Formats: sequence, structure tokens, C-alpha cells
Amino acid sequence: MTQFHRQSLVAYGQPLRETLAELPKPHGTEVLVRVECCGVCHSDLHLQDGYFALGGDKRLDITKDRALPFTLGHEIAGVIEAAGPDATGAAIGHRIAVYPWIGCGNCAACRAGEENLCGSHRHLGIAVDGGYATHVLVPHPRYLIDYAPLSPDFAGPLMCSGLTAFSALRHLGDRAARGPVLLIGMGGVGMMGLAIARTLLHEPPLVADIDAAKREAALAAGAAKAFDPSDPQARREILKATGGIMAACDFVGSDKSLQFATGLLGRGGKVVVTGLLGGSFSMPAAMIPIKAMTIEGTLTGTLAEARELIDLARSGKLHTIPTHERRLDEAQAALDDLRAGRIVGRSVLAPQA
Ligand SMILES: [Zn+2]
Ligand SMILES: [Zn+2]
Repeated sequence: MTQFHRQSLVAYGQPLRETLAELPKPHGTEVLVRVECCGVCHSDLHLQDGYFALGGDKRLDITKDRALPFTLGHEIAGVIEAAGPDATGAAIGHRIAVYPWIGCGNCAACRAGEENLCGSHRHLGIAVDGGYATHVLVPHPRYLIDYAPLSPDFAGPLMCSGLTAFSALRHLGDRAARGPVLLIGMGGVGMMGLAIARTLLHEPPLVADIDAAKREAALAAGAAKAFDPSDPQARREILKATGGIMAACDFVGSDKSLQFATGLLGRGGKVVVTGLLGGSFSMPAAMIPIKAMTIEGTLTGTLAEARELIDLARSGKLHTIPTHERRLDEAQAALDDLRAGRIVGRSVLAPQA
């Protein structure tokens, strides 16, 4: 019996521990992937905690969604090591990124191609063991995406932060062409959003962040203008320059960021929210029809969007962000650094290192 190594959640709120499991033999359409790298993501911190903060003392308990021990990690790039007899097209030795937002395949969302929104999903590293491991089992080769000539530490994280930003921009729809797009929150997802927006949109976007260093970084990366949402002048300046924003992405997702975004909308404007920072947002209900506004949430993105995004990245139009590679047994240290805000760029685990 061959075993493989994982860094697993054995109790909520506790450090990850190494666990060993029998290396699965892929059946049917299954594919066994040897993990080359797996990104360490903010949402892994929430999973380790076992809850999302909803504002005030309210928490969304997420401890019922998986059995422990559980292996986190959903930003996976690797090599096809073995494939079941029905895994058509899964060539051994091929390097691929793994689309992790895998659905049941039967519900209305899955039938519409939105497996990321499936109610009984099998999302890797969320509900099913993920990539903080030397190997991961994928149920079907359709979730594997060629990424050459990109590097694996670029391709893996594209499946989460990149995909989230890409899908948010796509959900702005035709409003994105009606004036400058505003991107709020220049963290990891926001900076990916900026890079993608520079390739998808007709004009460079406006950005907003309360952190001066992040505003600087965004300007250096091609933002048209950067605003400080905590500055009372910012709102007036943006309204004066644009007459009202028609399309905004809120990559923060707090009461303050959403207040800022909706307060800037022109009639018919739209905010797409991806951030999960928390807090409790309220506004006068009548403003929704008066401003004919749309507030839409998105959660990661579809398999089709993931393929489009990888194609965009393969064309060389997206720049990678600084990446710190760590060994698999440093998974907890990587999470600790992320929680403490000690990471510039992103970290990835490299199990084969
Ligand atoms: Zn992620
Ligand atoms: Zn489904």
C-alpha cells in the first residue's frame, strides 16, 4: 500500500497536522494529480477557523460542511500521475491546473454550467480533500486545464483569486462600457482584477483603497486614478469626474466598501461584490428603484470562465505577482504569515520541493 502526505485540518481553530492516507487508485473518469504547487488563500483561514464573520458578533458556522481530518487547498497545479479507464484525454505526465469548483452535475446550477454555485458541491479543498498534499484526486478530466507556457505557481492561484476577479468583471456586463469602471480594494484579488481589467476594458479603471501603498501599487499597475475611500473628498471627486459610476467591483465586501460603492452609482449602475470581509450593510430600500441599481454577488467563477482566463494568461497579457514558495510541511507557517499580513504577493506550497 502506497501512502501520501497531507497537511490536514484535524480540529477547527487548531494548527494543521501531517496526515498520511492511502494513495487512491483512480476509478472510472477519475484522475490522480501529483501536486506541483497549491496556493495559500485567505479563505483557507476562514475554513481553519470554522466560520465567516458576518458583522457584530454574528458568525456563519461552516464546520458541518466536511469531515475531519480534512485537507485544505483549492489553487492547484500539478501533473497527471494516473487516470481511470474512462478518463478520456487525461495524458499521464501532462501538466495542468485543476478547476476546483466542482459541482454535483445534476442540479439547476450545474446544468447551467455554474458548478461553482452548486448546492451540493464537491469543491476541492472546501468540501472534498484538496491540494495541501502531494496528491489530489479529481473526479473528471474536464476539470483539468492546460496552462503551458505559464508557471504552475501562476496557474494554480488563477483558479481562485484570478477567477474571482475575472468573473466579477464579466458580471458587470454592458455597463462596463458605459464609463470608467471602479475597482474597490487592491489586495490580491483586486490587483488581479486590475490586471485583467486592463486587458478586457476599453479604458483603465479607477481604483479605491484606504491603504496609500496599495493605491501606489495600483497606479504603477495602470489604474487611471486611485482614491482613498476614507477621504470625504473622494466621493465628490469621483462623482464630478464621472457623473456617477455605472460599474463597480467591490473586492472588499464590508459595510463601508459597499456603502462607498453604492453611494457612487449613477442611475442604472451596478456593483458586483466578491469580498467577504463582513459587516452589516443597510440602505434606504427606495434607493434601489430610484437609482435602478443592481447589487450582485459572485462566488469564484465557472469552468468556462476558468478556461477563458487561462487562455488570456497564456496569451502573455497578464503579469504574475510575487510568489513565495514554501514546503508542504510549512503549510501552517504560511497560513500564520497570511493571517498576520506578513505576505506581500502570495505564497504557494510546493509539495515536491
Ligand atoms: Zn482561494
Ligand atoms: Zn450541482
